[in-house]
Amino acid sequence: MRVLVVEDDPLLCDVLRDFLRELGHEPVVTHCAEDALTSMGLELPDAVLLDIYLPGISGLDFLQLQTTRESRIPIVAISGMAAESQARECVQLGAVDFLPKPVELERLREVLTCLEPHAGRPSPSAHRNERRRAPRAAVAVPVRVVENGGTEWEATSVDLSTVGVKLRSSRAVNPGRAAKLSFALPDGDGALEVSAMLVRSDGRGYAFDFVSPTDDQLGRLREFVQRGGAGPARAVEAHFRVLRAISRALSLSLDVDQMLRIALDALTRVTGHEISSLHLLSDDRRTLRLLADRGLSAELRMANRVLAVGQGVIGRVVVTGETVHVTNVAASAELPPAERAVVEREGIRGFVCVPLQSRGRILGVLSLARRTSEPFSDVEIALLEAAANQISLALDNARLYSETRSQLDELKQTETQRAEGERLSTIGKLMAGLVHEINNPLTVILGQAELVMTELADSTRGRERVRIILQETSRAARLLQRVLQLGRPQPSERRPCALEDQVQWVLEAKRHELDRAGIRVVTEFSPIPSVYADQDQLRQVLFNLVQNAHQAMAKHPGPRVLTLRTTEADGRVRVEVRDTGPGIPPELLPRVFDAFFTTKPAGEGTGLGLWMSYSIVEQHQGRLGCESRPDGGATFVVELPYRKGPS
Ligand code: ADP
Repeated sequence: MRVLVVEDDPLLCDVLRDFLRELGHEPVVTHCAEDALTSMGLELPDAVLLDIYLPGISGLDFLQLQTTRESRIPIVAISGMAAESQARECVQLGAVDFLPKPVELERLREVLTCLEPHAGRPSPSAHRNERRRAPRAAVAVPVRVVENGGTEWEATSVDLSTVGVKLRSSRAVNPGRAAKLSFALPDGDGALEVSAMLVRSDGRGYAFDFVSPTDDQLGRLREFVQRGGAGPARAVEAHFRVLRAISRALSLSLDVDQMLRIALDALTRVTGHEISSLHLLSDDRRTLRLLADRGLSAELRMANRVLAVGQGVIGRVVVTGETVHVTNVAASAELPPAERAVVEREGIRGFVCVPLQSRGRILGVLSLARRTSEPFSDVEIALLEAAANQISLALDNARLYSETRSQLDELKQTETQRAEGERLSTIGKLMAGLVHEINNPLTVILGQAELVMTELADSTRGRERVRIILQETSRAARLLQRVLQLGRPQPSERRPCALEDQVQWVLEAKRHELDRAGIRVVTEFSPIPSVYADQDQLRQVLFNLVQNAHQAMAKHPGPRVLTLRTTEADGRVRVEVRDTGPGIPPELLPRVFDAFFTTKPAGEGTGLGLWMSYSIVEQHQGRLGCESRPDGGATFVVELPYRKGPS
């Protein structure tokens, strides 16, 4: 093997050179990192022995250089400062192993043996390409790691290729040595035992490259990877099932609650020990509200109902937008003491929170906790992230759908209003034309009738007939005048006005008539907000109601009391106009707001007062209703919203 030595001490260089020759390798000696890079540029070695303390670029810096990393040549770090922390740092930066000085010949042999290409192993550069190309299968199988020094630990694979495996361990381990890995491929052909070298480690796991696997082992690995880890790999299959269930639920329904229920349900079936929850961000983006959960105890649900953004693990995810994985949530400093006790009691260990985001905006957080000591694997976290993506998309779709719907509804309403407005204005124009056409002949009839009246001075019967003609013609003319007023578009001038003042104005206008009819007026005003309305139109409505009450009571025996009451409820103000008249027979109640409906004698009623009042109140987004009380008398109620203002 061609071994590049990077060591500034010339005496140590001599020793290493001799050692390497002794072991049958070809040493290439350089005294600094810069020279080593030049040498690597000329010809790639099969391995590097790297001193950490070097003049110029240090060994640690050399490990981090992109050229070094991309070359993927196994580098063994050597240092006289044999501290555990330094060894760990070297491995984290990419060294495959760490040898303390003085370097022992036996130890060096051991390490280099692991790095030696087996018969038929491709050249370093071809091997590098193979590594890059090597397809990987995401598979979670238990792996036993036996380090050269004898230390043993358990891990779970994250992915597997023909050239190596990525592992995660629930324990804090400090690998850095060549090791033997034992694992059973789910192909039913028994366990595999392969020598491996740690080539990389980061927060998410340890990447081992297989060293000299046998042809049989390579064959099994290749076949398994080519199947994409499919077949009996139950974990991956379960994940596909979960994702399929979620995407089906999301595609079938726009009902957010239903789809979340199905999604959370599916997520808690990976091992059956999961607890899932989903928090959504409030409109002011300050709090997170628990929208749905599965498997949360009542205590934890209570504690997690509303969370502040930035606080706790879930709150932090909203701020960073990054997935957070906690292996032992009970030990997390972010957990409030009260919750810690519950979490411990329920045996919850692993906890993963992923952000729900769509179009660059965080919508909420999806969390998964587990009641087993097994931490969440990379594949499981990836599953949760994929589920979060699907849910975010669906939430966004549902929001867009409801927005579009309400916009459509609004458009429809505007369209209906516009059409209604057009219809009314056409009717108004027709009515005005009609009134004009009828008024002319009426004027002629009236004039002629009056003339006939004067000429019939001595015929009593003739005079009576003409009097009837005059009376009915006048009534028709008055009716037409009223219709003409209604048909004319009334300029509406809306401004804040106090209903109480309008009631007082009407009572003042009617005071003499009410007094004359012996009607006692009672007012019960409670403080109510003002409404945004056309004052004249409101007066017109109230005047009609008071007028009707007056006329109803004037012909009715018994006490005559007119009560006007103002109240407020549910964003609306009410004015009640109550009388002690005869009331309205139930069969007539549905007709009182119809145009031209009147029970009053000819000359007194037109049947347009309530019809017009109803349409005025409606134009103010209010309601006009009426009830006939069992104790006699009628009550009319005007309800108006008071929040409406100029927009
Ligand atoms: P008009 O007063 O010209 O008849 P309205 O539209 O104001 O027209 O009223 C329609 C009808 O409703 C009245 O003719 C009467 O029969 C009934 N009505 C209205 N107010 C009262 C009331 N306070 N008590 C009894 N009946 C009423």
